[in-house]
Amino acid sequence: MTRVVIVGGGPGGYEAALVAAQLGGEVTLIDSDGLGGSAVLTDCVPSKTLIATAEVMTGVRESYELGIRFGARNDASPETAVHVDLAAVNARVLDLADRQSRDIGARLADQGVTIVRGRGRLDGPERVIADCDAGERSFDADVVLIATGAHPRVLPDSVPDGERILTWTQVYALDRLPEKLVVVGSGVTGAEFASAYNALGAEVVLVSSRDRVLPGEDADAAQVLEDVFSRRGLTVLGRSRAESVTRDGDVVIVRLNDGREITGSHCLLAVGSIGPLMPGRMLMAFGLLSAVLAAFFLWRQRDIKRLFGYSSIEHMGIITFAFGLGGPVANFAALLHMTVHSLTKSSIFFTAGHASQTAGTQEMDGIRGLVGISPTIGWGLMLGSLAILGMPPFGVFASEFLILTTAMREHPWATPFLLIALGVAFAGIFMKVQPMVFGESDAPKLPHSPALVPVFVHLAMVLVLGLYIPPALAEWYRAAARLIG
Ligand SMILES: Cc1cc2nc3c(=O)[nH]c(=O)nc-3n(C[C@H](O)[C@H](O)[C@H](O)COP(=O)(O)OP(=O)(O)OC[C@H]3O[C@@H](n4cnc5c(N)ncnc54)[C@H](O)[C@@H]3O)c2cc1C
Repeated sequence: MTRVVIVGGGPGGYEAALVAAQLGGEVTLIDSDGLGGSAVLTDCVPSKTLIATAEVMTGVRESYELGIRFGARNDASPETAVHVDLAAVNARVLDLADRQSRDIGARLADQGVTIVRGRGRLDGPERVIADCDAGERSFDADVVLIATGAHPRVLPDSVPDGERILTWTQVYALDRLPEKLVVVGSGVTGAEFASAYNALGAEVVLVSSRDRVLPGEDADAAQVLEDVFSRRGLTVLGRSRAESVTRDGDVVIVRLNDGREITGSHCLLAVGSIGPLMPGRMLMAFGLLSAVLAAFFLWRQRDIKRLFGYSSIEHMGIITFAFGLGGPVANFAALLHMTVHSLTKSSIFFTAGHASQTAGTQEMDGIRGLVGISPTIGWGLMLGSLAILGMPPFGVFASEFLILTTAMREHPWATPFLLIALGVAFAGIFMKVQPMVFGESDAPKLPHSPALVPVFVHLAMVLVLGLYIPPALAEWYRAAARLIG
């Protein structure tokens, strides 16, 4: 019988456990925080339950127009006749989540899944260790599934305190409705909570870094939502990026990057989710290591193809680092960098091939004066090199700029390493390419320059992507960035 060990009891983990058990596997599910995972305990189920109450409140508020009157003398308005007991709402939310979690546990047990409460970790490819209250337990496995989910992202200068600066996992501990809630982040989660608390009766300000809410969704739908928000008195601050959230007694202060300050009684951070920290940090560390080492190795290269081979390693490091940073901007930049890097590198290798064929050697010392021998090869190599070195306005500049500025904002410690990698690589490549293109050579001019149309088409695309990203491509990057998380 196949031994399946699953780490993480959210929908990813428990659904897989049920299927594996139904297919005859011997299944062990290790979960640390409660079956159903974040989906059931803190994210999906609680937020939809809260929204269900909010919808009832909206219905009641709008019932006056339908002829429904409150109070014995028919004179009480719905605004004053009903109010929300948030402690009761939250108690119901948590109770429902807890019951659903127990139902899932019962279904799993019914299917013969062994449930272990503890924190799982891999111990080689075929063993999982669970840190349980009673001590460590070890499970041998033929198949291991890691389904450990994600957790709310927070900004470096906005540390949740669980009382007034909150993530969405913490709002269910509130026993009173916030007087004024500032929601930072206007994606689906931010918009959902802003709308729900507004309907429950709180004053709500939604801070959106983009020019509209739901930046990743359909623009028409977002417009409808904004219209509804403004009709219901919810304030949306567009193009407002929150820099920090701090607390001064009972007041929270949200500072925007243009210097404005928004105050409120509470702040909800809804700036996305991130997966377990470890893989992200490891990606960042290995990415930086590759970029820095490859940049120094560039200096030692004598062969033109190896030179640009090491440059590719440097750029893979930058891309890996960006994916490790995570979040919509860094992921977007990493995807853009993958595109512009491959377009540029294909041009460079094409031209470098012609250059070494013309010179009869791949040794860079033997390649000189390419512009004189063949202007298309010479300029193809020079422009390709400038593009890959991140010179504006080529697209590599745009993606590297995004990665660098995101790193500066979120992980400033990484900035010097990135700058070293970029600076060392710049000098290393430029010093070697410059004499190959413009150096002295007594080789005769080629009677016919090779057809390098694909080279210049690719470089033109890289140039365009530095100035303008077509909306469909940008949307595709955004959707992919969201999937990556
Ligand atoms: C506010 C909000 C609302 C949402 N609403 C919806 C919605 O309406 N519809 C929808 O489809 N999706 C919704 N989502 C998304 C949905 O919650 C996620 O897609 C879903 O939770 C992902 O499931 P998962 O199993 O991958 O991870 P999770 O649900 O996060 O479960 C992972 C589990 O693994 C456990 N775990 C982590 N590390 C370890 C370890 N080392 N050892 C043991 N256990 C570990 C965690 O404690 C957790 O129990 C919402 C998300 C948010 C934030």
